[in-house]
Parts: sequence; structure tokens; C-alpha cells
Amino acid sequence: MPVEADTYAQFCQRFSSDAACAHALFALRWPEGFRCPACRCSRFSLIRTRRLPLYQCASCRRQTSIISGTIMEGSRTPLPRWFQAMFLLSQSCGISALRLADIITVTYKTAWHMAHKIRFALQSAEASDLIDADFRLDAFYYGSPPLSGRPAAAIDRRLLERPGAARSCRSSSTGAFACRPSF
Ligand SMILES: [Zn+2]
Repeated sequence: MPVEADTYAQFCQRFSSDAACAHALFALRWPEGFRCPACRCSRFSLIRTRRLPLYQCASCRRQTSIISGTIMEGSRTPLPRWFQAMFLLSQSCGISALRLADIITVTYKTAWHMAHKIRFALQSAEASDLIDADFRLDAFYYGSPPLSGRPAAAIDRRLLERPGAARSCRSSSTGAFACRPSF
């Protein structure tokens, strides 16, 4: 099904800033509040000296980025561009890297690398693994059976306990996209 222009526009409007995207990622990553990936402590201090905030554990002092362990880790591309690319590449009509570069206004090289990572994440996801929510989300592990039917809390717990896990997420109202955090 082709992407509806107004749907994409709404998506872009909703996730128009790094802050808005980071807020959504935080909700996906820590739906019950921050948990240090090292010691599970829930207390943290926010370090805002970087483009994206770092969450520093109050107990072990480990610093965690909202995109660490995701396909976005290490990228300087703004999060809205990533979200837009995820949206567009998750559509069944498909899109070339050249077209993607044109739409989200990045270089062809950047678009190609983004598309490569996103397609890998999407290929690992299965539509049947979706869980209803405003942000429909799902979790799975590469090389392991999908976690169909598991309650969201169980999935999130497992993600938290197993670094290297992958997650895909879809917006039921605005289209689909996927990302690959390991929480
Ligand atoms: Zn900690």
C-alpha cells in the first residue's frame, strides 16, 4: 500500500525533533522508567552536554545513551531523519536509497547505510509479533524464535536482561517503522 502523504506528514510532525524522537525511544526502552543496563538501578542523572542526553546511573555511574545498541548508535544523523527513513522503508511499496536520500535530505551514502541497517532490522521482524499500543511494539532476538504473544512487560524485562536483543516497533496510527535497540 502506498504511503499516504498526509500520514507521512503527520508522522514527520509528530517526530520533528531529536527531543521528540528521544522521548518516544525512552518510552519504548524504559516503559516503566529508567533502569541502568548494568545494575538495574532506577535512579539517574541527566547529562545534557551532548546532542542527545546521557542517562548516568546514580549507583554505578554508567552512562547510557537512548540510542546505544540500536541501529542509530554512532550516527550523527538527526533522529527525525532516522524515524522518517524507518517509516518510509517499512512501507510495503518500498523505496530506493536514492529516493530516500532525496526525501529525507541526506546524502546518498548516508541513505544507503541507513537503508541497509533498517532493512536488516525489518527483515528480522514479523508483522505477527506486533503488540497493540499507540506505539505498537514488539521485541525479538536475532537468531531466536520471535516472542509472539508475550505481554509487553515480559518482553521489556527480557530485553533489559539480555543485551543484544533487538526490537521493532510500529505506529498503528501513522505507519510502521523499526529500530534495533539492545537494552
Ligand atoms: Zn548502574
